[in-house]
Amino acid sequence: MQSLRFELTDEQKLLQKTAKNIMEREIRPAIDRLNPKEAVPKEILKELLKKTVPIGALGNVIPEEHGGAGMDYLTWGLVYEQLDRAINSVIMITSGAAKAISSWGNDEQRQKYLPGLLNADLIGCSAITEPNVGSNPAAIETRADLQGDHYVLNGTKMFITNGAVADIAIVVASVDRSKGAKGLARFIVDKSESPFEAHRIEVIGGEGHLGELVFDNCRVPKENMLGNVGDGLRATMKSFQAARCFVALTAVHLAQLAIDASVKYARQREQFGKPIGSFQLIQQMIADMIAETEASRLLAYRALHLVDTGTRNNAASSIAKFYATEAAVRVTSMAVQIHGAYGLTTEYPVERYFREARMLTIPDGTTQIQKLIVGREVLGFRAFD
Ligand SMILES: Cc1cc2nc3c(=O)[nH]c(=O)nc-3n(C[C@H](O)[C@H](O)[C@H](O)COP(=O)(O)OP(=O)(O)OC[C@H]3O[C@@H](n4cnc5c(N)ncnc54)[C@H](O)[C@@H]3O)c2cc1C
Repeated sequence: MQSLRFELTDEQKLLQKTAKNIMEREIRPAIDRLNPKEAVPKEILKELLKKTVPIGALGNVIPEEHGGAGMDYLTWGLVYEQLDRAINSVIMITSGAAKAISSWGNDEQRQKYLPGLLNADLIGCSAITEPNVGSNPAAIETRADLQGDHYVLNGTKMFITNGAVADIAIVVASVDRSKGAKGLARFIVDKSESPFEAHRIEVIGGEGHLGELVFDNCRVPKENMLGNVGDGLRATMKSFQAARCFVALTAVHLAQLAIDASVKYARQREQFGKPIGSFQLIQQMIADMIAETEASRLLAYRALHLVDTGTRNNAASSIAKFYATEAAVRVTSMAVQIHGAYGLTTEYPVERYFREARMLTIPDGTTQIQKLIVGREVLGFRAFD
């Protein structure tokens, strides 16, 4: 029987504290000095990312022999939960691109791309979604045609995190449409060698560097295929078991900020001659917010622990992802409610937490897709794919 341990190790506590300090002392003040209506400029983004290199934020679970930090997934999750929303997805997706190259690449690919990605000299992205392809990535339309010693990519990718600023894109494309998902492959597309167009996409919640990528006869050296034909979707799906836990932890991060802000406000704001925190209905909201956030956190930790033990458990990651992201929407909405009309203004941060939480129910598989994964695992019937 697996042992249950609810205590963090001294090393985990220190890593968490160091990450929190860097966020509070260096990252958040720098972000607050910028125009909140504009995305963080790429050069500043890289400077901020460099500040997180010493805590292994980009190297996280990548093995030390590949230049990574060699953490286990749970420890990295504990650190990740502390990262500021302004940079956490840039870190996650850049390190995800590096992880893909570390796990599926060959020595030449690792030597060429890992140092830049792990030292914040290069920003990475992972491009699957297309204008006609969302929840069903097996239907990818982007083509990669072999011509001589290059693959020629044609197609458009949508809603790609970091897409507007990425130097390196891991692109899933079809080399043989007749084979469906088995004809998909992944390519390392290096923008400096294989230029492609990138346009920023604005969404609520300010995922600042979300982009549309356009590949118009983009020539990619054939040695830049990552793994083999047929690995494209399989590798992506495999990476989702951990990735969904990190989206859950982004939700936990925002929910915790919403709780902290609400507790502070409920102690200070007075109505009827008393702090609003003394009213039972406000206390009920605070208690619900804490219970939902604690449950989300434990679900995410448990799912990461299963990744660490090599236990294939897609249901655990899916439950963590849909429960935590939906809970964060409820929790941040309650935070707005506790702040009354002030909660709707930019004078307080809770409106931002609410907007940022709202979008989390969509990427890395929507809430509905996560529930279908749980249904599939429990019932044995496939309601999709
Ligand atoms: C902030 C953000 C970041 C993102 N980052 C990336 C990225 O880095 N790389 C990338 O490739 N993509 C990224 N995406 C895209 C994301 O993965 C897709 O948006 C997601 O997979 C859903 O696809 P869709 O938006 O096209 O919705 P659709 O698939 O069109 O779904 C629309 C609605 O139908 C529901 N639905 C679909 N199929 C079923 C079904 N079988 N049963 C029941 N309901 C169903 C969905 O749940 C949803 O409610 C990002 C999206 C967002 C919002």
